[in-house]
Amino acid sequence: MNPVEIIIKKRNRQILSEEELKFFINGYLEGKIPDYQMSAFLMTIYFNGMNSDETIALTRIMLYSGEVLDLSQIDGLKVDKHSTGGVGDKTSLVIAPIAAAAGVKVPMISGRGLGHTGGTLDKLESIPGFRTDLSKDEFIKIVDKVGACLIGQTKEIAPADKKIYAIRDVTGTVESIPLICASIMSKKLAEGINGLVLDVKTGNGAFMKNLNDSENLAVNLKNISESFGVKTIAYITDMNQPLGNYVGNWLEVYESIKILKDEIHNELTELCHLLSGTMIYLGGKSKDVEEGILISKELITNGKAYQKFLEIVENQSGDVSYIENLNKYPEPKFRIEVKANRSGLISRMDSFAIGMLGIELGAGRMKYTDEIDPKAGFIFFKKVGDEVGEGDLITEIHTDKNNSDYFVTKFLNSIEISDKKTEPLPLVYKTI
Ligand code: URA
Repeated sequence: MNPVEIIIKKRNRQILSEEELKFFINGYLEGKIPDYQMSAFLMTIYFNGMNSDETIALTRIMLYSGEVLDLSQIDGLKVDKHSTGGVGDKTSLVIAPIAAAAGVKVPMISGRGLGHTGGTLDKLESIPGFRTDLSKDEFIKIVDKVGACLIGQTKEIAPADKKIYAIRDVTGTVESIPLICASIMSKKLAEGINGLVLDVKTGNGAFMKNLNDSENLAVNLKNISESFGVKTIAYITDMNQPLGNYVGNWLEVYESIKILKDEIHNELTELCHLLSGTMIYLGGKSKDVEEGILISKELITNGKAYQKFLEIVENQSGDVSYIENLNKYPEPKFRIEVKANRSGLISRMDSFAIGMLGIELGAGRMKYTDEIDPKAGFIFFKKVGDEVGEGDLITEIHTDKNNSDYFVTKFLNSIEISDKKTEPLPLVYKTI
C-alpha cells in the first residue's frame, strides 16, 4: 500500500478499509509515514468525515496500538469520565478525588491542551513535581492503593492517540467527530473500565458549536463505548462561556482546590457534582445519580475529597506544599486588569477567542515543541448575564509577556457588553 493513495482516496470521499487504516496508523507509529502525510490525512478526514464502520475501525486500531489494561485484580467497579474539551474545563481534577473518596476506582488517562482548549495533563503538571508519565505498573498500583490515578497516553497505553493528538493540536484538525471519537475511546477503552461518564460540550468554546453536532458526537461516543461493553451516560453541557472563574493551568488547579475545600460554589461546582454523582452511581456506590450527588456533596463538606486529592498528588510525586499553601506558587510577571469600556450586561463571551488568547499568553502551544507557562491565564470577575458599570473589573490577565494593550484589546473584542437582557446559560442541555 502507498500512503499517498490512501490520502487521495479519502480526499476523493471514498471509504477506507480497516487494512488501509491500519497501514496508515501503524506506519505513522513506526516512523515510516512522516508528520506531513499524517497532517494531510487528518485534514481529509476533517473535511470528508468517516462512516460508522470506518470510525469503529479507526478506534479499534488506535486502541490496540497499545495494551488494554486488565484491572480485574483490583476490587470494585472502575469508572472514568471524559470531556470532549472546553475552556476552563477542569472537572477531572475535582471529580476524580470525589469518586475515589466514595470508593469508586478511577483509572484516568487524559490528554494535553488541544486546539483552543486546555488539557488535564498540562494542568496537573503545573503542580511542581507532579508526574503524569507513569508506567503501566505504577499506574495500576496507584489506582489500587489510592483509588485514582491520572496519567497521559504512554508507549504502552494508547500510543497512537499520544502521537496523533499532538499533531491534531497544531494542524487545525481537532473538530472532527470520527477523530474525536477514536481519540477519546481509544484512551478510555484501554483503561479496562466498567463505566464511563461523557461530558460532551456544546457552544462557542466547544469543538461542536451547535446542539445537533454535539448530540451526534454524544450518540457516536456512547455507541462505541457500549459496543465494547462499557456502561455509559453522556451529558451535553454548556460551553458558551468559560467554565468556572479561572482559566489557565495553575489557575485551574487553584480553582479545583478551592472547590474541593468547599470555598467556591459556582456553576462548575454544580457540574462537578453531577459528573461525580454519576460516577458514584456507575461505580455501584449509590442507588441512582441523585443519591450519588448527595454523596459527592458530603465528601466535599467532610473534607474527604480534598484529602484524597492530596493523596493523589503525593502518590504522583507532586509537591503538596504548593497545594497546602497556595500563596507559595510563583507570581506571573504581569497581572493586567481588563475593565468594562461601557456599562450594560455581558451578553456574550467568545470562549474560542478567549482560549486562543490564552495560548498567546503562554497557557497553550502553537507548535508541539512549545513550553507552557503554567502561571498564564485569566481570572473572571464577570460572566454572561452579569451587569457591569463602565470601569468595572471584568478579568485579570496573568502572563509573563509584556504586551498589555494588545491583550486588553483582544479580550474586550472577545466579549459583548450590550443593553439586551440575557437569560442565564443552562448548564446541562440533554442526557443521553
Ligand atoms: N478529548 C480527547 O481526548 N480527544 C479529542 O479529540 C477531543 C477531546
